Amino acid sequence: MIMKRALVTGGAGFLGSHLCRRLLADGFAVTALDNLYTGSRRNVEDLLDNRCFSFIEGDVIDFSTEEMFDEIYNLACPASPVHYQARPIFTTRTSVIGTMNMLELAKRCGAKMLHCSTSEIYGDPLVHPQQEKYWGNVNTIGIRSCYDEGKRCAETLCADYIREFDTDVRMVRIFNTYGPAMHPQDGRVISNFIMQALNNEDITVFGDGSQTRSFQYCDDLIEAFRRYMELPVERIREFFKEKGLGAPAINTGNPGEYTIRELAEETLRQIPESKSKLIEKPLPSDDPKRRKPDITLAKELLGWEPKVPLQEGLAKTIAYFRTR
Ligand code: UDP
Repeated sequence: MIMKRALVTGGAGFLGSHLCRRLLADGFAVTALDNLYTGSRRNVEDLLDNRCFSFIEGDVIDFSTEEMFDEIYNLACPASPVHYQARPIFTTRTSVIGTMNMLELAKRCGAKMLHCSTSEIYGDPLVHPQQEKYWGNVNTIGIRSCYDEGKRCAETLCADYIREFDTDVRMVRIFNTYGPAMHPQDGRVISNFIMQALNNEDITVFGDGSQTRSFQYCDDLIEAFRRYMELPVERIREFFKEKGLGAPAINTGNPGEYTIRELAEETLRQIPESKSKLIEKPLPSDDPKRRKPDITLAKELLGWEPKVPLQEGLAKTIAYFRTR
């Protein structure tokens, strides 16, 4: 039997490495591409001996290959505010030029492509919960814009490759996702709170902690990726046409909504030996006040919904960080 070949950009990152494992288990030959800016070789170290896996240290912006792929999963982009803001122009280049490069590859190979977009395309949303038909509320010149606008332009490119070249692209708008393999210095709220609690450091709540996020466990997201890629393109096109939506972008997230203060308290409850205390730090500019996905479309199209509640996923993530 001929194995299907998958390319995972950002394959040594938090989500990319989970996806590589899942694709190998599903019988794919997997190539992971990563520039190791936020990804880590350690995430894929155990896969390097697998003859169905190969790792390329390289950048999605200028990656070129003669190889053929059946499926391309475009995850490459720093996604934590700390990291994407440290090199904002590079972040935009990764989203825009990197995505265009992968779309060209998908076009050449006749491959299916799953593009990873983000809830950030909704900005600081004026509607709640966020549905796919909402166009967002985004600052073009703020410190988050390199990521938000880069990702918005990447979606535009995907939609236009579908319209202009009939490329088979599917888009997922990923809401805050967490789990094992997150980098301890990732800078995002869950890894920060767990690391601070384990090290008996102050828990840094930005603002008064009343802003909300909806947290999705990584395994739930990977399941959504795979279900989406398994669907026939005709079904996807028909579904989005019926819904009156211009391109196949769906929300993937866990609709459970928590304030950041509640998250801090739950983290401390699960690490009872911690001597950490909550402290308030200034709220970063353009920090969205509320975020919660409407996942009606994903439920209908993929027969999918997240299974892992925050308490359970947090326990698994804490167990992972304890081993590091
Ligand atoms: N946050 C916080 N303390 C931290 C890190 C983040 O209170 O140490 C807040 C941040 O201001 C935001 C939320 O937690 O309101 C989620 O931040 P994160 O960086 O994880 O992701 P975002 O959803 O903002 O991209």
